[in-house]
Amino acid sequence: MLATQANYYQVRLEPQDWLANKPQSPVTLLCTRRSRLMKIGQTVMVGDRVVVEEPDWQGLRGAIGEVLPRRSVLDRPPVANADQILLVFALAEPALDPYQLSRFLVKAESTGLEVRLCLSKQDLVTPAEQTSWLDRLRHWGYNPSLISVSQGQGLANLLSHLQQKITIVSGPSGVGKSSLINWFIPQAALRTGAVSGKLARGRHTTRHVELFELPGGGLLADTPGFNQPELMALPQDLAQYFPEIRERLKQATCQFSDCLHHGEPNCAVRGEWERYEHYLEFLTEAIAYQQVLERQSNPESALKRKTKGKGHATFEPKLASEKYRRRSRRMEHQVLFNQELEEL
Ligand code: GDP
Ligand code: ZN
Repeated sequence: MLATQANYYQVRLEPQDWLANKPQSPVTLLCTRRSRLMKIGQTVMVGDRVVVEEPDWQGLRGAIGEVLPRRSVLDRPPVANADQILLVFALAEPALDPYQLSRFLVKAESTGLEVRLCLSKQDLVTPAEQTSWLDRLRHWGYNPSLISVSQGQGLANLLSHLQQKITIVSGPSGVGKSSLINWFIPQAALRTGAVSGKLARGRHTTRHVELFELPGGGLLADTPGFNQPELMALPQDLAQYFPEIRERLKQATCQFSDCLHHGEPNCAVRGEWERYEHYLEFLTEAIAYQQVLERQSNPESALKRKTKGKGHATFEPKLASEKYRRRSRRMEHQVLFNQELEEL
């Protein structure tokens, strides 16, 4: 499912399903959802693989009768089955701020999805500066793609990392995300410019999301830019969001199994690596976040109320994997945290 519009869902069919009926071009059906799905509380998310019942090939309509099990679920933006996050940062204009980049990286890692880093506006900095950033970020555990949309550089290579995957494009505003999406998918701008009513108005809100199809296969979701994402990480999870720490913990273990790596004796993580300071800063934030969660007197009832009000967060009846279960718990924390903020 590619996009929602009021109570309608745009569903792109698999080639084997439309070729026999509409051989000309890929077919998108405008679908409703069967009321039995509503009765069992089954939501339909962008990215969902669904079963369409009674397709009307003339009117290009149908009804979603079933949602297939999800590989992954993201809450913000709400996307099912995403494979990776493409984090875009500009090398210049705006200047690359390592702390802000680190924050976005940690937030992206906290989803459990693969994280791919892309440095844009390559044309604005010298080759020496480019090399220096590449070296630096390799020490952070990333191998960024360098691109320039205005010079058409690095785009074919970047595209090869996006094929046949669902990718969420993220990053601060002004780094060139829209330019990048429009370069790959010229119809994206047309499509968003052409839609009217609810879809157009909702385009720049945080909960709106739409998938665009890449040439050669694969889907891109754009997200509105945000400058300082809330981390909402738990202290004991934070280390896993740093590739440098994951690597260190593969080589050695800390003396204490619940080590938070902030000065405990015989810690394998503490040491001379660039982002250790970022880790410590984010840890302070994570501890404060945990305290907010702990102040919730009765998390169970709070969660229920919230879920009824907004109608999301417990949409997944099936827990597919350990990875998913962890993410699901995190989503609950997120709901609780938002509620606390609202009450404040
Ligand atoms: P978004 O906010 O991340 O979607 O960024 P936009 O795509 O709107 O781009 C912000 C500005 O950066 C625009 O003025 C673009 O023309 C410019 N821009 C985008 N890509 C490049 C690039 O590769 N090189 C240069 N020099 N400017 C770019
Ligand atoms: Zn440690």
